[in-house]
Formats: sequence, C-alpha cells, structure tokens
Amino acid sequence: MSRYTEASCKLCRREGIKLFLKGNRCYGEKCAIERRNYPPGSHGHNKNKLTEYGVQLREKQKLRRMYGLTERQFERIFVDATIHKGRTGDALLSMLERRLDNVVYSLGFASSRSGARQLVNHGRVMVDGKKVDIASFLVKTGNVIELKERTKTNVHVQSSLSSRTKMGIPRWLELEPATMKATVKTLPEKTDISLPVQEQLVVELYSK
Ligand code: SF4
Repeated sequence: MSRYTEASCKLCRREGIKLFLKGNRCYGEKCAIERRNYPPGSHGHNKNKLTEYGVQLREKQKLRRMYGLTERQFERIFVDATIHKGRTGDALLSMLERRLDNVVYSLGFASSRSGARQLVNHGRVMVDGKKVDIASFLVKTGNVIELKERTKTNVHVQSSLSSRTKMGIPRWLELEPATMKATVKTLPEKTDISLPVQEQLVVELYSK
C-alpha cells in the first residue's frame, strides 16, 4: 500500500488524539485537534458506536499512523513481535520505538518522525560510525547514534534539538549535548513508552 499523502492533521482528527505528525505545529494553537476535534468530512459530527472490531481497528490505526508506517510495514513488525518471548504487545511497542527513524526523532534531531525518516533516508545518520540509511533499522543496546558533522549544525536540527531538550529524551537513550552523540543504554520497555494506545487491542485484532 502506498504512503498516505493527504493532510496529516486529518489523521489526528480521525483518531481524536494528537499523533504529533507535524513537528512544532502540534504544540501550538494551530493544531487542528485544538480547533476542530471531530472527524473530518461531512459526517464528522455523527457519533456512531463502534463495534468491538472497530475499536480494535482504531487502536491499530493510531499506532500505525503515529509511527508513519504503511499497513504492510506495520504487519511485518507485528509478525516479528510475535516471535519474541513475553507479551506480543510489549514487544511490538519496543520494536516500534527502536526503529532508527523513531530514535532520531526521540533524540530531537528532527521535530517529527517524518522529518527524522528523511534524515535517515538521505544518509545523514550514523550508527557506530557507519552511515545507516534504513529507517526500519532496529537499534541495539550500546549503539552510538549521531548525525553527520555538517548536518549537526543545520538550523532545523538545532531548533528541534533545543525544543526537545526542554521536554527531555527517553530514559533508555543518553545524549551527550556537546558532541550530539547518543548511546542506547538499554532496550525500551513498556514502562518507557507512554502512548495513548491500548496495544493489547491491536494484538487481539491480528489474532482473529
Ligand atoms: Fe496532529 Fe500535529 Fe496536526 Fe495537531 S498539528 S492535528 S497533533 S499533526
């Protein structure tokens, strides 16, 4: 399935929550969820009760859209998560968090996950000193992540980094501000990931 190309804010309005797809705009008054928190389209105000399947589907869509994945990419991660020991939902969240584009976003090198993916795809990100241009690359404990020297001084990178510094970065990552080098201290666990999504419902959806 091709990538979604319409207005990102419609996705948030469809799900009724902020998915944080547009960088700094998401934190300001212009956020569509602040101004029009109802689904897009002429039937947006109609409130039909969702079926059990509908509720599970919406949870899956929230998670998939938050990380900016296609159906196929999301399904592939889910299948990989089922192979892990322990709860599939926890493994799913952990694997989504460990994606290189998400790590670049979480460190504040980009103000949105799509911006982070662009940095990765354009070969601006290095892991353990080597260029990695695969957004789905999963980081491991001990990996060192940094941007190429010229990209570190980019005005957009600097601006999103200063915004992120105020918010803080996830506990499982450690960023050295002076060198802009980050280390994966440990793999993310469920307690490190606070998303407004019930991942268990996603597991139930795919288990049908
Ligand atoms: Fe969603 Fe951000 Fe648009 Fe708000 S500004 S609706 S959080 S994408």
